[in-house]
Amino acid sequence: MTAPLLAPARTALAMDDVVLTYPDGDSRVAAVDHVSLEIGRGQSLAVTGPSGSGKSSLLAVAATLTRPDSGHVWLATGAGPVDLATVSRARAAELRRTEIGIVFQQSNLLASLTAREQLEAMAWLDGRPSRARRRAAGDRARELLELVGLGAAGDRTVGALSGGQRQRVAVARALMNDPALLLADEPTSALDTEAGAAVTDLLLGLVHEVDVALMLVTHDAAVAARCDSRMHLVDGAPV
Ligand code: ADP
Ligand code: MG
Repeated sequence: MTAPLLAPARTALAMDDVVLTYPDGDSRVAAVDHVSLEIGRGQSLAVTGPSGSGKSSLLAVAATLTRPDSGHVWLATGAGPVDLATVSRARAAELRRTEIGIVFQQSNLLASLTAREQLEAMAWLDGRPSRARRRAAGDRARELLELVGLGAAGDRTVGALSGGQRQRVAVARALMNDPALLLADEPTSALDTEAGAAVTDLLLGLVHEVDVALMLVTHDAAVAARCDSRMHLVDGAPV
């Protein structure tokens, strides 16, 4: 199949008939069962469904962390659409560094680093950066911490941050490389209601502010209702 033709300049992610199965005794279970979807830049898609319905599996496919059995997963890049279903591991790792931002339920920050250093560390993932690149990363880190409301907390280490602040650092870190696609897997489920609501507001605001496509896995119907579109999964299939 060729790359999707729908509004190509604005489409960040387009999945076409994606199937992902896992071994289950003598047979296999479909964690993602013929899913097609499209998310444009500046748009949000909520993925809902009961526990075990395939939400994380779907997100992992979009994140290049899991390769589907079949189907296409088109990611828009500066060099044109790339099918994540067929890219090499090395290219997938590169795309995760440059084109895709990921936020998980736990913020997964490095305890010894300050908030700003968590972000700056992204510039080291493909080797020692030049002085100019380090300076640019420092500037971008400051700008993003400001954007997520943590401009004054850049020098604090993880231990000195609240759960909600940590998750906002994780969101800022996911944006360090200016991704077209931001993936968030239940990013507020480890937070209290108020901190969770602040992180949700932040994510939905960023969709427009940084013109990113957001796939947001959530248990919360009220959060899903605020997204531009919704996909409800049951046993891996949209219903
Ligand atoms: P959700 O995020 O909606 O809770 P998951 O995507 O984690 O759902 O899981 C979907 C289905 O795939 C479940 O039946 C789960 O047991 C199965 N599954 C997920 N990951 C694996 C794995 N690594 N190996 C085998 N089965 C898995
Ligand atoms: Mg999950």
